Amino acid sequence: ASWEKQVRHSSTPHRPNGLSVLVTGAAGFVGSHCSLALKKRGDGVLGLDNFNSYYDPSLKRARQDLLSKHQIFIVEGDINNDELLKKLFDIVPFTHILHLAAQAGVRYAMQNPLSYVNSNVAGFVNVLEVAKAADPQPAIVWASSSSVYGLNTKVPFSEEHKTDQPASLYAATKKAGEAIAHTYNHIYGLSLTGLRFFTVYGPWGRPDMAYFFFTKDMVQGKPINVYVTQDDKEVARDFTYIDDIVQGCVGALDTAEKSTGSGGKKRGPAQLRVYNLGNTSPVSVRKLVAILENLLNVKAKKNVVKMPRNGDVPFTHANVSLALRDFGYKPTTDLSSGLRKFVKWYASYYGIQSRV
Ligand code: NAD
Repeated sequence: ASWEKQVRHSSTPHRPNGLSVLVTGAAGFVGSHCSLALKKRGDGVLGLDNFNSYYDPSLKRARQDLLSKHQIFIVEGDINNDELLKKLFDIVPFTHILHLAAQAGVRYAMQNPLSYVNSNVAGFVNVLEVAKAADPQPAIVWASSSSVYGLNTKVPFSEEHKTDQPASLYAATKKAGEAIAHTYNHIYGLSLTGLRFFTVYGPWGRPDMAYFFFTKDMVQGKPINVYVTQDDKEVARDFTYIDDIVQGCVGALDTAEKSTGSGGKKRGPAQLRVYNLGNTSPVSVRKLVAILENLLNVKAKKNVVKMPRNGDVPFTHANVSLALRDFGYKPTTDLSSGLRKFVKWYASYYGIQSRV
């Protein structure tokens, strides 16, 4: 009963016409930030996360502690557990699902391919099945990925470009998610908005990502591998600061709300939309290291190595004009200022000296 009370309390909005959002992957990097932003505006937020150990679970627990200070409850469970999901929908008439739970990272797929299929394909279908059966049906905003552009060389990446050359199993499962979303929209009229995130970074970030483990290794005086392409070209990413991504997720939720009507059965035209959420200005990994050297005040021990064929792509660059047009998405943080905030967080979280 007290569990049910927490579920109810957490998901109740505190402003008129506030949203009631189920955030899957709420103990994750993007999920924790989005949950806080929604709660701060007065929306109801309930988290769901299985706290898996793909990376340091204590970081997920620390995010959970932060969320609980803001009265956000995270239910511990798997998106493949349909009984649990149905139970949550029996208790709460969610207006939206922000579906971020996934097996992330491209390289880990070589060791554990099925975890991608289980979470990103089967788990996603399970979430859609429960949403389909719910009354009212919630609008769904979910995380796709820039990785769907794969080996596409036409830049900047635009939503109408082909996505038929995934370079990793991760990318293939994200691409499958977009195809699955299309069918649920087509047959059942579910409102679905896919967001292709481009290399998200910032405070509370993921330890498996380059900017994070470069920082860790540089602080400890360990060497780092800086990748170049097979023909010695720079590897670059359209690094996107977490607050910009949060702004995009909230904007997508708000516009999804308009087209479905809040709550009630009356619905506007069902929508399936897919948007790039990037920063529109790629930066080379070499430059990333130079910025970190400056912020951390250490000289990196760099091994320049050719990128193996491990699922990574050489280059990403977003065109975000569609997201700008439909919900005013405008990235505002450049890599230097965003990394400064990351390093500041890193130093205080891990208790090390920092000059930023
Ligand atoms: P994250 O790993 O920090 O967050 C995902 C969370 O989902 C984790 O806390 C994990 O425990 C949880 N989870 C995983 N599988 C689950 C399951 N089966 N059931 C319940 N919970 C589960 O990753 P993130 O960086 O916050 O990414 C969020 C979403 O954005 C993911 O879908 C990811 O694929 C996508 N994405 C992220 C980036 C990026 O650069 N961070 C880029 C493109 C796409």
